[in-house]
Amino acid sequence: MLIKVLGSAAGGGFPQINCNCRNCADARAGKPGLQSRTQSSLAVSSDGAAWILLNASPDLRQQVDATPELAPPAEAGARGSPIKAVVLTNGDVDHLAGLLSLREGFALTIYATGRVLATLAANRIFDVLDPRLVERVQLPIATPVGLACGGASLGLSLEAFPVPGKVALYLEDASAGPGLGTQAGDTIGLRISEPGSGAAFLYIPGCAAVDQALADRLRNAPLVFFDGTLYDDEEMISQGLSSKTGQRMGHISMLGAEGSIAAFRGLGVERRIFVHINNSNPVLRRDSSERRAVEEAGWEVAFDGMEIRL
Ligand SMILES: [Zn+2]
Repeated sequence: MLIKVLGSAAGGGFPQINCNCRNCADARAGKPGLQSRTQSSLAVSSDGAAWILLNASPDLRQQVDATPELAPPAEAGARGSPIKAVVLTNGDVDHLAGLLSLREGFALTIYATGRVLATLAANRIFDVLDPRLVERVQLPIATPVGLACGGASLGLSLEAFPVPGKVALYLEDASAGPGLGTQAGDTIGLRISEPGSGAAFLYIPGCAAVDQALADRLRNAPLVFFDGTLYDDEEMISQGLSSKTGQRMGHISMLGAEGSIAAFRGLGVERRIFVHINNSNPVLRRDSSERRAVEEAGWEVAFDGMEIRL
């Protein structure tokens, strides 16, 4: 199984279009130790020929351009794409807007929960994905499904499981109390496995907390890509970027007793990689003490183009 990190940033990317925070300003100025990043997405393949996108970011065209494996294969003739499926982990803009860049008329399968499929159905702009070519399949929870396109197996199996989270920003319902209308399963994690080899990993780009059920899922996993949005729950506020904490945005932070670094301790996860990193996060700076702390805790910080073979 081959995994490529297409985009390692959270929504907005890095640098973000309207942001003058220290990280964004320094990245824009080309200062050393800062690498620009596109928005959150992974690509995974069993055979290196057929690819599955885990989330479709607004930067998809740029990501495909930067990834030779995703170019139209010569044997496809005049037109074709190795992208055969897209799996969505929630309804966030940074995870589904890239679907609009897949409208050029080729067959693929979209996998998502019922609520996310309902969001696509309610927004007619997604009808540009020709239903004769693009199948929408509802993901069951906690039941592995074999990924396929047009009836042909893609060689990988996927299991979706709910994780603590928050409904997408544009779907928040302020009248619905502190949960803002969030329902269980609005954010899912994915376990991708290759039946042929037994290789497997978890992909959890959005997560508000590590509860007991998630800890049980994580235990002894060989590889986990995990929500690295913020270093500190209050960093958006302290940097004057927003009035929201990480918790309010539905994202666990790296730091602190309730943070992801502490939560993973003792779970025996062999390889831990932060993805979905917000532009405010100090770990984006190669020379920061926060980056050093994360690495000393045994974590890696994903970058665009990162490649892993399992
Ligand atoms: Zn910024």
